[in-house]
Amino acid sequence: MQNWVVILLALSYLALLFSLAWYLDRRAKRKQTSRLNRWIYAMAIPVYCTAWTYYGSVGKAVNDGWEFLTIYLGPILTVPIWWIVVRKMIRISEVQRISTLPDFISSRYDKSLTLSIVSSVFIAIGIIPYISIQLKSISSSFDILIYGNHVLARSRSLITDSAFYIAIILAFFIILFVFRSIETTDKHHGMMGAIAVDSLVKLLAFLAVGVYVVYYLFDGFQDVFARMDLTQVSQFQEVPKTDGMHWFFLLLLSMSAIILLPRQFQVTVAENTSEDHLRTAIWAFPLYLLLINIFVVPIAIGGQSLLATDVDPDTFVLALPLYYGAEGLASIAFLGGFSASTGMIVVSTIALSLMVSNNVVVPIRLRRSPMRSQYPIQARQILVFTILGLAFLYYWFISDRFPLVSIGLISFAAMIQFAPAVLGALFWKDAHSRGVLYGLITGFIVWAYTLVVPTIVEVGLLPESLMTEGLFHWSFLKPQALFGLDLPQVSHGTFWSLFFNAAVFLGVSIFREQSAKERNMAEFYVNIYANAHRSEEKILWKGQLVYQDLLSACENILGKRRTREATEHYRNFYGEPLTAANQVEPRFVNYTERLLSGAIGSASARILISTIAKEEEIENEELVKMLRETNEISRLNTELRLQSNELQRKTLALQGANERLQNLDAEKDDFISTVTHELRTPLTSIKAFVEILQDNSEMEQAQQEEFLKITNDEIDRMTRLINEVLDIEKLESRDSTLHLEPVRPYDILEKTLESMQTLLEPKNIQVEHLGSVDHQKLRIMGNPDRLNQVFVNLISNAIKYSGEQKAWIHLIWERTDSTLKLGVADNGAGIDPNGIDRIFDKFFQVRDQTRKKPKGTGLGLSITQRIVQLHGGSIKVESELGKGTTFTLTFPIFQSQEKHTA
Ligand code: ADP
Repeated sequence: MQNWVVILLALSYLALLFSLAWYLDRRAKRKQTSRLNRWIYAMAIPVYCTAWTYYGSVGKAVNDGWEFLTIYLGPILTVPIWWIVVRKMIRISEVQRISTLPDFISSRYDKSLTLSIVSSVFIAIGIIPYISIQLKSISSSFDILIYGNHVLARSRSLITDSAFYIAIILAFFIILFVFRSIETTDKHHGMMGAIAVDSLVKLLAFLAVGVYVVYYLFDGFQDVFARMDLTQVSQFQEVPKTDGMHWFFLLLLSMSAIILLPRQFQVTVAENTSEDHLRTAIWAFPLYLLLINIFVVPIAIGGQSLLATDVDPDTFVLALPLYYGAEGLASIAFLGGFSASTGMIVVSTIALSLMVSNNVVVPIRLRRSPMRSQYPIQARQILVFTILGLAFLYYWFISDRFPLVSIGLISFAAMIQFAPAVLGALFWKDAHSRGVLYGLITGFIVWAYTLVVPTIVEVGLLPESLMTEGLFHWSFLKPQALFGLDLPQVSHGTFWSLFFNAAVFLGVSIFREQSAKERNMAEFYVNIYANAHRSEEKILWKGQLVYQDLLSACENILGKRRTREATEHYRNFYGEPLTAANQVEPRFVNYTERLLSGAIGSASARILISTIAKEEEIENEELVKMLRETNEISRLNTELRLQSNELQRKTLALQGANERLQNLDAEKDDFISTVTHELRTPLTSIKAFVEILQDNSEMEQAQQEEFLKITNDEIDRMTRLINEVLDIEKLESRDSTLHLEPVRPYDILEKTLESMQTLLEPKNIQVEHLGSVDHQKLRIMGNPDRLNQVFVNLISNAIKYSGEQKAWIHLIWERTDSTLKLGVADNGAGIDPNGIDRIFDKFFQVRDQTRKKPKGTGLGLSITQRIVQLHGGSIKVESELGKGTTFTLTFPIFQSQEKHTA
């Protein structure tokens, strides 16, 4: 392709992005927000997918089979916990005006300057090579498009290298759109929009190439995989090619990268304008990753089976359409890769220059002359050029010799070193600043030794013997087999660096005491949702500070206008800041410090305040006092809540008791009315008969006697009724207990039967004991008279309701472990299923049409049940109408007796 066409293509794409960014910035200035912001946010997060994804995934798939997937599976796996982890990071950063990862860490860990310098430098070293491979991919994609697939032998020259010019153009883009305003926590709408468009372009371009390969060069997916078998492309048939450990570490790396990489922190945390946008990103981002991976394997297979063997797999995406003469598609493919690289370069460079200026350059300059003004912007602008320049040099001299992926993974391994510190900041109050610092340094050294040193050896700057024999010829110090561990290089380095890092971090944190201030910040971070409101009041500060000094420091950094706005805002919220003789109230100091953090980072802001104030150490006691105050409030709250709960519980209990009382009362009324009713029936008939006898004095003798007998019966019934009522009253009274003694139920039952012979005989009822003789000998704790009463009731019922012929009563003895069961069974009339549930109720009698006059009082079974219960036992009934009824009594066996018989 003509080189001016390609250059024009790239430049017009950049021009398009620039104007979009410009438009979005202007719109944001007019405070127009739209629903689009949510989508811009979600689509900026795929800045994760760089040229390494775009070109490198295919390259990795060719070399290592399915392993390329780990880089995308990891982030997808973390998405479910974003709402817990990332939202918390966003909230903290919003409240503390944090814009970079080192800020995030150092403001939690004692505002340590050393820590923020170390982390910034470490991140810069880890990430610059990663930027350089993006430059490399821009340059090589230009070359391929212009010169075709075989460009390996071409001589290199700075003048003709496209990456050089692109780097310069991007540097200007950043300075124009991002580093114009001083406050770093201002959101960069233009930049975010451009990144979102980049994401869409690279996805669509990749899908276009994929569809072209699968449906134009091949006949669909099946055809692709059939071709795989034919051409013996075998790496996809062994799943997974390497061992599980390696997969595990790759997943771990990408899981931490998606949150910690500077560009990810920038777009996901620092640029977030609403926590709610996270909800969209949580599903849109995994979907994006899924889509951009669909065609990786087909393109890898296509390149391997259709292109010459000397074509670099990292360029298949571009080389395939070019080889088949589809120039239009090739241009689209090129733009996709171009957008992937530029997006990454822009965001990473922004993040890195913020980081280095806030945490290294500005603090150092502040130490020298605290009162000079407006320098952070220039520092950042210079840093943009420096970082891109370093990345370019790295690309020029080193990264050209390595595949895209390996350098990317080494950067990932650098970022995972921050995982312990960040998790500690979010969830572990005892995490100690020294632990983080020493852990990071240790991790960094091990990372450099196991992952960076081998690449330096490969370039020839270090002797080969280091790799084969180890440092100082100690074989356990071989960079790729530390202590003899045998794992693929990246896993190996990740494991050891993370292991030592975390061990040091945990060890130091456990054994060292935090300072009062750090303790305060630990509380603040871990409980951020509770602390976010009126946050300046919740951070401890003690010292003397002249109000005017504070204001002029602010004006130096932020400018007069911004300072005035900020103090007005404070006044509206808290009222006039109190300033008694040299003493500015601490919350105003905290407020200002945070304001400054937004502009120059937390470490710098800390230094600035400490140079103009006379600060005092905070005694542990003060911290304790403050914590106690907050705790006191929450304790009081809990107490109040507990008390009201208790009150509620008691009210409920009272209500219950009241209801029960009412029920009892109603029951009592019922009982009395039933009793009087039951008494009136016999009385009425007695009165009737007596009147008849009175009125007819010359009645026949026999007739008279019959009437007198009926009267007598009725009086008996009344007496029985009254006795039973008295009896049940006694049994049911609250403190009724029975005098119990060891008795043998069998003996009592025998006596009962004897006394009832006169009732049994006339009906010719056969009584029979069933069950083992041993059981009949069992004893229980019982009251002989009451047990007799129970048996009389049951047997007289059996007699009363017996059938016409061949009536029998069976007494069935059984035992379970600790209970004696006695069944009283008859083959009588049985009980109507409709009434069976209520036969133990007082006065309940199953009435049926055939029975004219009730045979009993309806109290027998309730008395029986009550007596059995007072023996600690129970009574059950089973019955079938017309066939018979069985009452089963259960009593606990008297224990000591067992020893005698067993
Ligand atoms: P009653 O004094 O009327 O017998 P109970 O409380 O002893 O009162 O019994 C309640 C009701 O249970 C009786 O009216 C009767 O209908 C039914 N019943 C009790 N035992 C038997 C039995 N062995 N066979 C049939 N029905 C019975």
